[in-house]
Amino acid sequence: MPGIDQRDPAVGAGVKKEQGGSRSVMEASDLLTILKETGAYLNGHFLLTSGLHSNAYVEKFRVLERPEYTEAACRELARRFSDQGVTVVVGPTMGGVILAYEVARALGARAIFVEREGSGRALRRGFSIAKGERALVVEDVVTTGGSVREVIQVVREAGGDLVGVGVLIDRSASGADFGVRTESLLRLPLVTYRPEECPLCREGVPLVRPGSVVRQHES
Ligand SMILES: [Zn+2]
Repeated sequence: MPGIDQRDPAVGAGVKKEQGGSRSVMEASDLLTILKETGAYLNGHFLLTSGLHSNAYVEKFRVLERPEYTEAACRELARRFSDQGVTVVVGPTMGGVILAYEVARALGARAIFVEREGSGRALRRGFSIAKGERALVVEDVVTTGGSVREVIQVVREAGGDLVGVGVLIDRSASGADFGVRTESLLRLPLVTYRPEECPLCREGVPLVRPGSVVRQHES
């Protein structure tokens, strides 16, 4: 049935098969379904690197390791900026590398990434952004937005023309604000508790440290 946004049972959790080319391929509810079905979204009692406790944790790599979901999500981000003449998509390591690549593929743009260097971030490996080049910044999960701000700074210092920021999951309390157009596929505000006030501690729910998951990923 051309032109109709159908669910294809073979595709699985919430990804709609794109038919007709112009329809949205993923909505917030679809992404949430995918997060739950892939085990990316976990309910429980988690110790965050900040020392705060939370009742939910997102392990983005449960989604990013699935190209079919990542591609669909990135296609939707690309669609939202498809009229902006983007020629380069920039993300921060690690997840942003994958996001930039898939969004750039959908836009017919270049994909580059910004990585840690000293106390900040920089373009390495010969990557460059031309003066006035239309650049889109992408990120998988935004909580404080620090990584995205660092990428924005790199784009601006290179003289790039920043068209906006595309985010898969916005976990910030009040909505990510980078002073430019920002598109998020899903808002999932992070709920945190100080240990002494944590209701889960009071209930005796075992505290889990997402461990290397939190400590090793940069963003
Ligand atoms: Zn607790």
